[in-house]
Amino acid sequence: MTGKAIRPGTRDAVEQQLRRENEELRTRLEDAEATLRALASGEVDAVVVAERERVFTLETPDLPYRLAVEQMRDPAVTLTDDGTIIYANRRFAEQLGVLQSELAGQRLATFVTPQTRAAFEELLRDVARAETEGARAEVILHREGGTPIPVCLGVSTLRDGALGPSLVVCDLTIQRHYEELRRTQEALQASERQLREADRRKDEFVATLAHELRNPLAPIRHAVKILQRKGSPDPDVSWGREVIDRQVDVMARLLEDLLDASRISLHKLELRKQRVDLAAVLEAALETSRPVIEASGHTFTVSAPAEPVSLYVDPIRVAQILSNLLNNAAKYTEEGGDIRLTAEVRDGELFVSVQDSGIGIAPEMLSQIFEMFSQAKIALVRSQGGLGIGLSLAKGLVDLHGGSIAARSDGVGHGSEFIVRLPLEPA
Ligand code: ADP
Repeated sequence: MTGKAIRPGTRDAVEQQLRRENEELRTRLEDAEATLRALASGEVDAVVVAERERVFTLETPDLPYRLAVEQMRDPAVTLTDDGTIIYANRRFAEQLGVLQSELAGQRLATFVTPQTRAAFEELLRDVARAETEGARAEVILHREGGTPIPVCLGVSTLRDGALGPSLVVCDLTIQRHYEELRRTQEALQASERQLREADRRKDEFVATLAHELRNPLAPIRHAVKILQRKGSPDPDVSWGREVIDRQVDVMARLLEDLLDASRISLHKLELRKQRVDLAAVLEAALETSRPVIEASGHTFTVSAPAEPVSLYVDPIRVAQILSNLLNNAAKYTEEGGDIRLTAEVRDGELFVSVQDSGIGIAPEMLSQIFEMFSQAKIALVRSQGGLGIGLSLAKGLVDLHGGSIAARSDGVGHGSEFIVRLPLEPA
């Protein structure tokens, strides 16, 4: 044996020190014996050594239960009452993106985001008060190198009295996405309702406006008639009278179009369908448009079937569609251009094409020009006014007849073609 020599003066102190150490060792031995007894009796199946943050578990008769928890699809974790992880299954480790072996001994709270930690601590308090019936907490877990995961921690009813709570972790990511989606969908539906309502009010306002603006036109026309009847030797007076007469007509036409367009939007326009010959409808359209086309010096060609073509349509409305297209062709073509109207019957349907050699339509505008109030910028230079409703009105009327209308153009400067398709017989 080796050792140092002890001086007589220090003997008492050494003896005292040895007694203290002896006492301490006995206490620790007794503690260890108590722990072993608890382990042997199955009261405890894990030992947490706090200073070293290590957890020791035993393979006790609950091994099958552990295996079942290990293989669960849901993440699960068993804690001490103060929230230290005793055991976490593989899924839980995967969910957090850490090694399973690293979890035991760590405090679960360190994986919970600070904003949701209060909910977790409340859950631990519930467990401490034995209020575990339906106890749950919605928290957000940090994920190693990934996005945080919203989860619901539910206290398992399989809780062993000797251990702290066992928590089953339910991933709420999909549910949160779904809730978010539902909220977005509800917001979209609400704004769609508002838009529809605003659109309906706009249609009603346009209808009222057109009505109110049209009302003064009748007395103005009447006054002009009286002036015409009276006659005047002053050429300026006659000129002024003619200007008023013409402009009142222009205004009346614009307001009629506006009224029709709003009637279509409000589903208040009714067709007066009857059996008519195509030639009669074409004649009515040409009567309106020929003067406009000729005034601009365009060459105008009409080609239609020689034999009668019986239609079941509202003749006034179909003539209105075609004259709208012809007037546009004249309006959006430089003077001296080429305008063609071709009508033909194919597969029980009537196809009417109005073609011009005018300013053409940019590809990105082709899908928009049938929308109400839509006008291409380039066209505005030539348009000499117009509200941008002629084509939307034409489309509305064609749709009411169960037909379709399409626009074609090889681009700006390359002319345009509008094709109307109408069924010959009622559906
Ligand atoms: P408006 O002629 O009053 O502007 P429309 O609804 O009749 O209204 O026409 C909408 C837009 O479609 C016009 O502003 C113009 O940009 C374009 N458009 C219509 N017809 C033609 C055409 N034949 N050639 C070129 N652009 C056209």
